[in-house]
Amino acid sequence: MAQVFNYHCRSCDFYFTIHNYRFCFDDKMDCIEEYMALFTDSDYGNDSLIKGRVIEKYCSSCQKTVRIYQFTPDSSIYTTDASFDFLKFYIPKKHDFLLESIDFHKELIELIENNENLKKISSFIEDNHVYNIYELNLNHYLNTKRSGFNSNQLIKDIGLYLDAINDNLDRFDDFIICMNSTEDNYNLDLEGKMFDMDVCPECGEEFYPISLKNPCPICGKNTMERSREMID
Ligand SMILES: [Zn+2]
Ligand SMILES: [Zn+2]
Repeated sequence: MAQVFNYHCRSCDFYFTIHNYRFCFDDKMDCIEEYMALFTDSDYGNDSLIKGRVIEKYCSSCQKTVRIYQFTPDSSIYTTDASFDFLKFYIPKKHDFLLESIDFHKELIELIENNENLKKISSFIEDNHVYNIYELNLNHYLNTKRSGFNSNQLIKDIGLYLDAINDNLDRFDDFIICMNSTEDNYNLDLEGKMFDMDVCPECGEEFYPISLKNPCPICGKNTMERSREMID
């Protein structure tokens, strides 16, 4: 079970969510993976080269979420400097990975629309299996063949995967990203520039503490509410 806190302003509809994500390195996908820490699988990511948590802060002057990828020295096989270098390289790579995954899904739709033979479609999926993040299983669709294989349904489903990846990418573009080692009292942005821990790396303003005690950062009214979501 994991907890997510949703803050919402009743007056202006401002939303802010604290997900309590953790991150690790997925060597199969060759990228940083984020997941919710479920109490039942606390060992998850233990074999990872590096792991840590993603702290979410809000900058009211940029009106963006700042995500701080924080690791402790003993949760990484690398030295602190090498860990920063690793994250500098792999955090933006996630962005490229999502873009490549979008290309994969688009090309797949094209192949199906052009009525390419199934062998070609299936080897295309096989060759690009790393980008098949929703584990699309062609056999599942072929099994419906006897009652009429429905390529429209397949295209519709791939379209839904595409939407989900695009959402993911949009959110990624909205974030300001930096890194922190628990032994240091500063944050680094992805260029390696140092910042005070309480300030936004983009504008230098102090983070705005989102809480029920504080007014909404957008409209300034005391109409913030919080709900807790439990995720299995
Ligand atoms: Zn508001
Ligand atoms: Zn800012």
